[in-house]
Amino acid sequence: MSTKLPNLNILDLVIIGGGPAGMSAALIAGRSLVDTVVVNAESPRNAVTNASHGFFTRDGAHPSELFETAKAQLAAYGTVQYINDTVTSTRRVPEGFEVSLSNGSVLSTRKLVIATGYTDDLQLLGLAGIEAVYGKSVYPCVFCDGFEHRNERLALFGGEMAIHYAPMIRLWSKDLAVFTNGATIEPEALNALTSHDVPVYLEPIRSLEAHDGRLVAVELESGERIERDAGFISDEYSHPTTTFAQSLGVTSSPTDWGTTALDISEAGATNVADLYVVGDAKTGFSGIVAAAAQGAECVESIVHEIATQRWNRA
Ligand SMILES: Cc1cc2nc3c(=O)[nH]c(=O)nc-3n(C[C@H](O)[C@H](O)[C@H](O)COP(=O)(O)OP(=O)(O)OC[C@H]3O[C@@H](n4cnc5c(N)ncnc54)[C@H](O)[C@@H]3O)c2cc1C
Repeated sequence: MSTKLPNLNILDLVIIGGGPAGMSAALIAGRSLVDTVVVNAESPRNAVTNASHGFFTRDGAHPSELFETAKAQLAAYGTVQYINDTVTSTRRVPEGFEVSLSNGSVLSTRKLVIATGYTDDLQLLGLAGIEAVYGKSVYPCVFCDGFEHRNERLALFGGEMAIHYAPMIRLWSKDLAVFTNGATIEPEALNALTSHDVPVYLEPIRSLEAHDGRLVAVELESGERIERDAGFISDEYSHPTTTFAQSLGVTSSPTDWGTTALDISEAGATNVADLYVVGDAKTGFSGIVAAAAQGAECVESIVHEIATQRWNRA
C-alpha cells in the first residue's frame, strides 16, 4: 500500500483514524471512487485483547488480524491513500478543512471524518494490578467477553453505576460480587444488590491478584481475599482520544446519564458543515460491528452529497 504523500490538490475526503469505523468508512469511499486519505496512528483501543467477539463471520478473530485484513483489502482501491501517521491539528478553511500531520504535511479536504476513538485511562480506576488483566480477564463490555466467562466467579468493579450493570452480568453468571473500591453507593442500590444475592464489598481494594493475565482474586485493604475468575468494569475511565470535533465547533448536549455528548446525527453528521464523527468517537463505546456500520453509513451519505453536487454542477 502506498504511503507517499498526496499531491497538493484538494481531496474529497480525509478520514482521521483507521479502526473499524475509519477503515470501514475508507472501504466505502474507495468503492465509490472518492479521492480519500486515511491517516491512522495504529493504536486502537482494543489492542490489549487477544480476541474480538461478536462481529459476525469474524467472531474470535485477533484485533490485529481484522486490521491487517482491512488494510490489505483497502490497497485494491486506487483512490484511497493510507498514511500511518498522527494528525496533530485540524483547521476550518473556506473550501473545507486543513489537516496537519506529525510528518509536517498538511492535507486539504472538502469533507472530514473523525474516527479517532476513545482512550481508556486505567490509572483513573485506582486498581493496583489492573494492567495485567485488562482485556485478558477484566473487561469493559459483557457482550464482548461475557460468553467466554459464563458461569465463572465474576467481579464487577464499580460504584454508583454497578446497580445498572449487575442485572446484565447476572445473565452470564449467578456468582457475581460487586467491588466499589471504597466508593459509597446509595442504600437502595445496596439493598437491591444484596437482595439478589450479589455481595457488595465497599472496602478499598489493595490489589488484583492474577496469573498469566487471568484474575485469581481481589485483595481488600483488610487483607481479605475474594477469589474471582474474571471481571467487568462499570466505572468511567475513558475519554475521547482527540478533541478535533470540539475545536472545530461541534456542539454538545446533556445526556440522561448526567454527562454531555457531542451532537451527532445517526449518519455521523454534525452541526459543522462537512464534518462527521463516527465510531467510539461518537458513542463512547460502539463495539466493532456498530463502529464499522457507522463508518459505512456515514460515507454512503457523504458519497450521496458528492454525487448530488457533481450532478447539479454538470
Ligand atoms: C478491552 C477491550 C475489549 C474489547 N472487545 C471487543 C469485542 O470483543 N468486540 C467488539 O465488538 N468490541 C470490542 N471492544 C470495543 C472496540 O474495540 C471499539 O468499540 C472499536 O474498536 C471502536 O472502533 P473505532 O474505529 O471507533 O476506534 P478504534 O478502534 O479505537 O480506532 C481508532 C483509531 O484512530 C487512531 N487515531 C487516534 N487519534 C489519532 C490521530 N490524532 N491521528 C491519527 N489516528 C488517530 C488510533 O490510532 C486508532 O487506530 C473492546 C474494547 C476494549 C477496550
